Amino acid sequence: MAEIITKNLNKKFGDFTAVSNTNLTIEDGEFFVLLGPSGCGKTTTLRMIAGLEFPTSGNIFLDSQDVTFLRASQRDIAFVFQLFALYPHMNVEKNIGYPLKTQRVARSEIKSRVREVAKLLHLENILRSKVSGLSGGDRQRVALGRAIIRRPKAFLMDEPLGALDAEFRELMCSELKKLHTNIDATTIYVTHDQNEAMAMGDRIGVMDKGAILQADDPLTLYNKPRTMVVADFIGSPAMNFLPIHSSIPKGCKSVLINGCSVEIPEIHAASNTDLNYLGVRPENIEITAASYDGFQGKVYGVEYLGVRKIITVDTAVGRVKVRSSNNLVVQINDNVNLKFNSKRIILFNSDDGNAIKSERIT
Ligand code: ATP
Repeated sequence: MAEIITKNLNKKFGDFTAVSNTNLTIEDGEFFVLLGPSGCGKTTTLRMIAGLEFPTSGNIFLDSQDVTFLRASQRDIAFVFQLFALYPHMNVEKNIGYPLKTQRVARSEIKSRVREVAKLLHLENILRSKVSGLSGGDRQRVALGRAIIRRPKAFLMDEPLGALDAEFRELMCSELKKLHTNIDATTIYVTHDQNEAMAMGDRIGVMDKGAILQADDPLTLYNKPRTMVVADFIGSPAMNFLPIHSSIPKGCKSVLINGCSVEIPEIHAASNTDLNYLGVRPENIEITAASYDGFQGKVYGVEYLGVRKIITVDTAVGRVKVRSSNNLVVQINDNVNLKFNSKRIILFNSDDGNAIKSERIT
């Protein structure tokens, strides 16, 4: 298996920059997820690493070898797409074994490696079946089998579960993670689905407009997002952002929002713009009885989610989502107060959307 490094990787299509200055180090055996909205450059990044697209500038290293301008077939990397291109006239066994056949591997060796892969992917019972009659989940397992059997240095997967229904996707998510643990292969996995990313990634690189905004493990991304875009993209419901119409000096420990003082983690670097944002996740807000000296709001909606519920509260500075226990009784139109868990608050600068350095974010 292999370490993958991209250095100042750029890709332009005419005047349009699809990938901008990407620097990534994906460690040997790591499961790395590229996450971001549609069109942010995930597939283009993956295609350059695969050798299906050449960069406009920058370099790609595979196990220290500069492979930037090597063709895909010279890189020893397997690519799995959303639309799995299997050979419909062949059965499962022949589809999985096909890459070895093209490499002229001996028939007995192919047979034993197909069996090994089929066992790993729970395909033993359908080896003789035609792929055209298989379910989406089984077809995707066959596509994975065909990638695995080559024992490549790395796997690149582009939304491989995108065509499956929700139930299968969840199942395949945990199977893929288990498979990764078993074969310990360096994997880059592209998705726009934060749940998939959080469930599978050792680390996640969040992309927007061609750039990697932050690459970190799932918990760090969730708890210490470095930009508003990352904070907004990770977590459901998303983080709440409340406007602060003043600059924030160094050493500051509270801010005024709509005339109400809110305690914050101590600020370590001033933000001199006149508009900043207070970011707080729905589970870090408590709903308390209405009173005149707190942050007030009126309940707009209540969604029940099993043991938890999401309460939407209209405030003078916008709608706020609160995740609370089901024991809390509130009705639509109730007047309530909101209490923020000050230790979990993150402040953002409106100029560049970056998190302001504080006790919480260094
Ligand atoms: P999606 O999840 O929708 O596939 P993505 O994040 O993978 O999105 P890319 O497919 O990498 O995004 O595309 C990034 C941008 O580059 C898009 O705006 C796309 O239209 C553009 N693009 C990609 N390939 C080409 C091409 N061959 N020629 C021109 N523009 C392209």
